[in-house]
Amino acid sequence: MSTLKAVRGTRDLLPSETALWNRIEATARAVFARYNFGEIRTPVFEDTALFARGVGEETDIVSKEMYTWEDRARAQSEKTQSLTLRPENTAGVVRAYIEHQLGETGQLQKLYYIGPQFRRERPQKGRYRQFSQIGAEVIGPTSAGSESPLRDAEVLEMLATLLDEMGITGWTLELNSVGSAADRARYNEALRAALAPVVDKMCVDCQRRAVTNPLRVLDCKVAADQPIIDTLPVISDSLDEASRVHFAAVTAALDAAGVAYTRNHRLVRGLDYYTRTTFEFTHGGLGAQNALLGGGRYDGLSEMLGGPRAPGIGFAMGEDRLVLTLQALEAAHAPKADAFIAPLGEGLNPAALALAKELRRAGLRVELGEGGFRLKKSFEAADKTARRIVIMGEDELQSGILTVKDFATGLQTKVPRAELAVFLSKPAGE
Ligand code: AMP
Repeated sequence: MSTLKAVRGTRDLLPSETALWNRIEATARAVFARYNFGEIRTPVFEDTALFARGVGEETDIVSKEMYTWEDRARAQSEKTQSLTLRPENTAGVVRAYIEHQLGETGQLQKLYYIGPQFRRERPQKGRYRQFSQIGAEVIGPTSAGSESPLRDAEVLEMLATLLDEMGITGWTLELNSVGSAADRARYNEALRAALAPVVDKMCVDCQRRAVTNPLRVLDCKVAADQPIIDTLPVISDSLDEASRVHFAAVTAALDAAGVAYTRNHRLVRGLDYYTRTTFEFTHGGLGAQNALLGGGRYDGLSEMLGGPRAPGIGFAMGEDRLVLTLQALEAAHAPKADAFIAPLGEGLNPAALALAKELRRAGLRVELGEGGFRLKKSFEAADKTARRIVIMGEDELQSGILTVKDFATGLQTKVPRAELAVFLSKPAGE
């Protein structure tokens, strides 16, 4: 019988990894509490119509990535219904806001969630079909100040604090404004006009987007299209006075709080419901999937779902990517042994042990290899665990001159045994 495996794009997290996941979640909960957010847990599956309306039929998520099925009626009183595993959590949170009439309180609702999301994407490092998001939403009636640019800046400052407290260094905040629905319509027209004479030179996806939703052309990753995209108008030129003032107030508050950002005119985000502020935090250590988190303002979403006017702003961070980033940062800072001693053949094991004892007694951190290993295997093990490798062969034993290779510089040096401890105690690369 063939053995069963976890489905493509899904993973088991074993105890060696769950410790880090729990640490990340504990830090997130602690920071959210200080900013006075409360936790919300919405169902993992919802009516398909929620995502079709709340995320947008035109998006990649809804058009090709959702896990959707017809759920058969179990009783006469039930109807067969189209259900979908949630691909994101904002639509579910806003549905719950409407369903429980949270706006009636007159207060801003500050809600966070942690949980699995599902998208049928092409799996690769940092991109899975089941992944976990940590997210938060600030939503409420206009009278509660939900449209205020201070809310945007507060959420961004909270994110900077959250990443710092998680130990994620070296992130970049990219910021933009996509304006109001009217601004976007105006910008779409400007893009359509600018694209008309050049679009036949672009990829097939862009040719389709130029007709259906020109804004999406800015998301194109095809290298040959980039010089053309660079010549297109930028959305900041299409913003009306109110949107400009709003964005200026967001950046002024960020400056006051000392949160660094860069303006990215092409950041329009993949989801239809965004208005005004959009943002992404990226990290260089992640490779192709470099987005740690994304978010923005969605002033019209509640109404799109049949609810009252309830402007809001929120974000979703990819927990899997936080884990990858922290693992890479920790690996880079993990202490390495001063030396790895590689005996050349089993017969030299005793001599290698004697040398290791000598160096350890001199206060060095030493890893002892195994003479039964081939030299290549010893080098690989040494490279992972130590800054230098010391070769202990028959010649070295007789002459008392050892060969030391420094992994940082690639330099190979002959060192007399009596000077070895002093040589190895120098920092790597010297
Ligand atoms: P989005 O909901 O598309 O704005 O994504 C928000 C964040 O969730 C991204 O910045 C990623 O960190 C993470 N994310 C989105 N899709 C995936 C995926 N398929 N696998 C892992 N993380 C993801």
